[in-house]
Amino acid sequence: MFACGAGRATRVRHAANPNAAADIAVQKARFAAALVLLFVSLAGCGDDRAVGGPADRRPNVVLYVVDTVRADRLGVYGYEKPTSPRLDAFAAGAVVFENAYAQSSWTRPAMASLFTGLLPPAHRTVGRRSVLPEDVTTLAEILAANGYEGMGLVRNPNVGRAFGFAQGFTRFRSEDRERVRLWLDERQDAGVPFFLYLHAIDPHGPYDPAPEFEQMFDAGDAPAHYRTVRYLLELNGGEAEPDEGTAEALSRLYDAEVAQNDRAFGELLDELEARGLAEDTAVIHVSDHGEEFEEHGRWEHGVSLYEEVLRIPLVMRLPGVPAQRVEPPAQHVDVLPTLLGYLGIEALPTDGRDLLAERRRGDDPPDVYTHLDVDGHRASSVIRGRYKLVLPQSPSQGTAPMLFDLEADPGELDDLATEQPRIVERMLGLLADHDLAGDVEPAVEIDDAQIDEDVRRRLRALGYVD
Ligand SMILES: [Zn+2]
Repeated sequence: MFACGAGRATRVRHAANPNAAADIAVQKARFAAALVLLFVSLAGCGDDRAVGGPADRRPNVVLYVVDTVRADRLGVYGYEKPTSPRLDAFAAGAVVFENAYAQSSWTRPAMASLFTGLLPPAHRTVGRRSVLPEDVTTLAEILAANGYEGMGLVRNPNVGRAFGFAQGFTRFRSEDRERVRLWLDERQDAGVPFFLYLHAIDPHGPYDPAPEFEQMFDAGDAPAHYRTVRYLLELNGGEAEPDEGTAEALSRLYDAEVAQNDRAFGELLDELEARGLAEDTAVIHVSDHGEEFEEHGRWEHGVSLYEEVLRIPLVMRLPGVPAQRVEPPAQHVDVLPTLLGYLGIEALPTDGRDLLAERRRGDDPPDVYTHLDVDGHRASSVIRGRYKLVLPQSPSQGTAPMLFDLEADPGELDDLATEQPRIVERMLGLLADHDLAGDVEPAVEIDDAQIDEDVRRRLRALGYVD
């Protein structure tokens, strides 16, 4: 139920139900029912709201997604280099999820999971041509139904309008953050809270930081071609041979871009502060996936499901919620139920859980499920407790399951699959239970001809080949 003007005080608890989410039709029906409830509740408490003033309003929401940031390159997650002074300071007053996971290792399926709370087999936004289907309910749509004005500014075309990600936003653009200021100016006296989704592209390849940041991380010696996306593609394709210092040199360029983006994040925080909005704005800082630097012989992302592409930052500053560090695993699918729980908005059944809901003693930490199917790279994985099972299903990675003990072997170098057949069997069963043991068919696909030249050009610039 929607409470009158007391959104933050009313926390809606709901049990995590991993099987409930697959049925999108049920979701839609519930969403429609929730809309009716909303109108009834608004009609019933219009007077209260009129006299209640801004203090009774739900807080604004800023979702700040930094593309391609792996958690271990950030101070708040233990990195020793100064890549993230602004995020670190922000995190000191926020909820830090220490073990946060991406649902996939490239942008589109990962962001589809974040926006729907669904695992890839349920949202089926999985291939290079896949589109987030109209019949899923997104975070932006739910917030819009609850009176939020949504603005999306995305620099990665993989989450652009062409691929279905504009659903629920009043405005949605592929533009720079400069637009944020203009938009905040325009809606200065707006009577409704806002939902601002910013998707920054750096440090996604090519790694080409500004000179100031390059100097800060001693990245200036890298050869010019290291700053091109073509080189990264050639490394992954085996057409270029890395030198001994390649991973280190690319890492430095990458770190410089992480730091450059951290400054941009800080500027956004300053902007909120200067406008007096900081106290009444929930800010979520998250990444869509990580990046590889030859830990397992690969580069970039979207080619494997190792920890370096799955471990991401997830930091939430929620007015009224005390700063804390949360150890149990968190994942993209949890963002929607957690945020809605905080806002006191009725949550749909999802594959995620409200990370801030009180846990019962003895609750097991949740399993983490991931999936990848792009450009011939296909795999799925599950983490339960200390064990991680990866099931590769493609010529590029073979088909034999791999088992890692993440506590004893966090670098995933020692495959235990042949030593531990019973654990492998049990975990393969978990994947099967979640429809992750076989094909996941895309729900909707777009023809190349439907992708306009501008989107195509921007995809190419990021290394996504036609
Ligand atoms: Zn990405």
